Amino acid sequence: MRIEEAIIGRNYAAHAVEMGHDPDREAPFFFQKNSSNLDPSGEFPYPDKTSDVHHEVELVVALKSGGTNIPLGKALDHVWGYGIGLDMTRRDLQGEAKKLGRPWEIGKAFERSAPVGPLRPVSETGHPSQGRVELKVNGDVRQEGDLNQMIWKVPEMISYLSEYFELAPGDIIMSGTPSGVGPVVKGDSMEASIDGLGTLTVRVV
Ligand code: MN
Repeated sequence: MRIEEAIIGRNYAAHAVEMGHDPDREAPFFFQKNSSNLDPSGEFPYPDKTSDVHHEVELVVALKSGGTNIPLGKALDHVWGYGIGLDMTRRDLQGEAKKLGRPWEIGKAFERSAPVGPLRPVSETGHPSQGRVELKVNGDVRQEGDLNQMIWKVPEMISYLSEYFELAPGDIIMSGTPSGVGPVVKGDSMEASIDGLGTLTVRVV
């Protein structure tokens, strides 16, 4: 099975706490968006059937190669580069799905739900493992954290995922979000930045 896009949930301790979970290192879990949900346009159309769409700023990892059962020590060899992404979430629909023990797609995998900035190659960025992660809405800081607060690090995510799925070139992994998630409304401007990767600006339309 090929993962087009996998997103790790609750990967920053403070975000796990704000969502009501124990931040201890329980096994990671993943859900998928569709590859067609990726959107580099810089605009996020407010989606239907929700009144509570949240921003989640995330480090994006792009693979250049894949395989199964990738050992931890070889995991970073499969990375092409990095970027900034937003895991936009219909939180009200996700919350209802969680409560009922149902899948999250209705809250997570809708059209244009994954705004992304340009991907930059490892030759330019190295493998970022620390640095500020921030999201501003209309100039006000809403989310802030540091890549070094990730509970599961990038090599661990790749290795773990490859035990369950065959990873492939072009696969995108979004690596979880720091605390401070919250709603946006039409007209808002979201400004996501990660040290060394620049800034992604997305307007809610
Ligand atoms: Mn997320």
